[in-house]
Amino acid sequence: MIEIQHLKKEFNGTEVLKDISEEVDKGQVICVIGPSGAGKSTFLRCLNVLEKPTSGKVLFEGKDLTDISDKELDELREKMGMVFQGFNLFPNMTVIDNIKIAPIKVKGISDEEATKTAKELLTKVGLADKADVFPDSLSGGQKQRVAIARSLAMDPEVMLFDEPTSALDPEMVDEVLNVMQGLADSGMTMVVVTHEMGFAKEVADQIWFMADGYIQETGAPDEFFSHPTSDRAKEFLKKVL
Ligand code: ADP
Ligand code: MG
Repeated sequence: MIEIQHLKKEFNGTEVLKDISEEVDKGQVICVIGPSGAGKSTFLRCLNVLEKPTSGKVLFEGKDLTDISDKELDELREKMGMVFQGFNLFPNMTVIDNIKIAPIKVKGISDEEATKTAKELLTKVGLADKADVFPDSLSGGQKQRVAIARSLAMDPEVMLFDEPTSALDPEMVDEVLNVMQGLADSGMTMVVVTHEMGFAKEVADQIWFMADGYIQETGAPDEFFSHPTSDRAKEFLKKVL
């Protein structure tokens, strides 16, 4: 579904991503882990070209996102949902309007249909009773679940998550991870940058360990967590496990 070829990204002459080549298959859940500053967020933002790679290719369903018109890029981006650490909900809109706005404005879906889908999604993330409240009245965990529902409303083919639980109070982490696990179980293709090692172990099909701008090592979670091969990964796991 996504093919990354020799991806490099520099900021002002500093190489932050240094020659990354990997593939994401349909239905796969990839967890990207690694120390702070490794380049994980930059990498994720290059996948949907929110950040333009300095060189290399990002193929999404066979099309090179770094080499297409803005119009085509916008269309393909609609198929890639993204959820960040912050929730970025529109504060002046109710929860359900937050979820409905993009399908209506961007996809031209009718209000009736968008409402129906939004309600289904709110039920899916356990917030059916919050449709008509404003984001301010929600907890962090609830906001993040709305953000996930909002992303899903565009009917994406892949979901990208950048540390979706790291701004949350500890007691709210699980409610968000549970929604993500449900999404994974339903077959969604996901690339998840996370510090939640339990989630990564349990839900990932593959771990990509990133440090110093490289994906240093990839592997099935069982293998990676019990027998990391690179020194960087060993050192990292000693700190976090
Ligand atoms: P991670 O998400 O793994 O913590 P990031 O991708 O956020 O890492 O950052 C990797 C490196 O790239 C850091 O050194 C960071 O300072 C740098 N960086 C990220 N974004 C920018 C930017 N827009 N301009 C300059 N440097 C950046
Ligand atoms: Mg980051």
